[in-house]
Amino acid sequence: MSPVTVVTGGSRGIGAATVRQLARAGHDIVFCYRRDTEAAAAVLHDIHTAGVRGHAVQADTTDPEQVDHLFTTAAELGDITGLVNNAGVTSPVGPLVDLTLTDLRRVIDVNLVGYILCAQQAARRMGAGAAIVNISSAAATLGSPGEYIHYAAVKAATDTLTIGLAKELGPRKIRVNTVSPGTIWTDIHAVSGVPDRPARIAERVPLGRAGEADEIAAAVVWLLSDAASYTTGATLRVAGGL
Ligand code: NAP
Repeated sequence: MSPVTVVTGGSRGIGAATVRQLARAGHDIVFCYRRDTEAAAAVLHDIHTAGVRGHAVQADTTDPEQVDHLFTTAAELGDITGLVNNAGVTSPVGPLVDLTLTDLRRVIDVNLVGYILCAQQAARRMGAGAAIVNISSAAATLGSPGEYIHYAAVKAATDTLTIGLAKELGPRKIRVNTVSPGTIWTDIHAVSGVPDRPARIAERVPLGRAGEADEIAAAVVWLLSDAASYTTGATLRVAGGL
């Protein structure tokens, strides 16, 4: 039986790179996206080109009914063996005092509530040998002053979600880990109003550059694989030394 993996936010950026690498590694994949249907169709095409089964589901991870539909669609392919909690958003950069309540609530809703709704579905449906990877951020320990402290705080909550869930699901032989990317070349920075942020931070990174989505995806693929069979509750920082 092929592994069946759910990836949230699989249409662009880190999620899309992860979907493509997992497909090449033989996973059947159901991924969700929120609105970019064209990008989702391109990723779905690549899944099928890799010779595995897959579906793209338009589902907002903050809506319990849409999350249920996502996991029900995945379960039709077989027992769900993997979840990559990846769908995340930031908001315009700036000092904390300028943060709007709308942006604060949206960042908490997508990056934390959405992760927990998906983790609940996974915990209900998964059996021994399955694994969850939560995409956090190096921001969780750096704090992101002057940029998005609220986002960093929510990512720290994601890290705690991994710690607790790894302990809760360990006896059922389900592993839960975190990947914490540094600054990666994706469209997320355009939403923050600083599309060239990866270039700007390069000189602060020990390796001298921002990362690529494929460099994060590789860590996720490893954590979902049997090669990581004794790894749970871990945070794998992929941040160029930051
Ligand atoms: P991205 O390029 O903006 O892509 C985000 C993906 O998530 C898109 O497929 C988007 O779909 C989807 N999405 C957003 N909100 C959603 C929702 N409510 N429900 C379902 N899908 C949703 O972002 P990224 O840079 O790849 O980031 C992926 C993850 O890595 C996030 O958790 C982010 O916080 C984390 N991260 C990123 C960086 C970085 O520098 N890029 C660094 C550290 C951590 P649509 O296009 O359809 O909206």
